[in-house]
Amino acid sequence: MKPVTIAEDTEPMRAELAEACRRLYGQGWMPGTSGNVSVRSGDAVLVTATGCGKGTITAADTVLVDPDGGLPLVGESAWPSAETTIHLAVYRTRPEARAVIHAHAPHATALATVTGPARDVVFEDLELAKGLGVSDPARVPVPVFANRADVPRIADEVRERLSSRTDTAPALLIDRHGVTVWGGDLEQAFNRLECVEELCRLVLLIRRHGADPVEERTS
Ligand SMILES: [Zn+2]
Repeated sequence: MKPVTIAEDTEPMRAELAEACRRLYGQGWMPGTSGNVSVRSGDAVLVTATGCGKGTITAADTVLVDPDGGLPLVGESAWPSAETTIHLAVYRTRPEARAVIHAHAPHATALATVTGPARDVVFEDLELAKGLGVSDPARVPVPVFANRADVPRIADEVRERLSSRTDTAPALLIDRHGVTVWGGDLEQAFNRLECVEELCRLVLLIRRHGADPVEERTS
């Protein structure tokens, strides 16, 4: 088996990962122990450990895993998040992704739930969609996946659907569960998550209040 190469000093990356989680917790998008974050580190992936509170997470609550099976590399003491396989499916199908964030942001979760699995949420003609870095911000589909106790099965479905489509946003939704967003680095993934959550909030608002103009044209 080919040895997995990792970045020489992983400490700064571990600290950055923990800090990102604390910010996400502060936004209310990773309540309790929910949510997980990862970054590529050489050929390996550095991911948050399972079961750690995101408000108090530290660099020690991170673990390097092999990118194929998601198992901890030799010398790692923590166990990776149960949802690591979804991160690996994103890295496998989107080579440009260097960081992945999975969060339980409420508006994204609500819109995924009212849309339902095996469908797309579509952001249409919303200015904020430009923040997602897509080729056509006027129409941005985001696929919704079924939530399953069998997480590797969700990961298989993600891998299958993302590899057959190139038109979707750098994001996916899971029905009754949450949102996963990726980017070229942690900061970009964080910014994109902010955009997706706000876009979902806007879509819910527009649906609730209607998109018709409230005033007559004057000319
Ligand atoms: Zn989750």
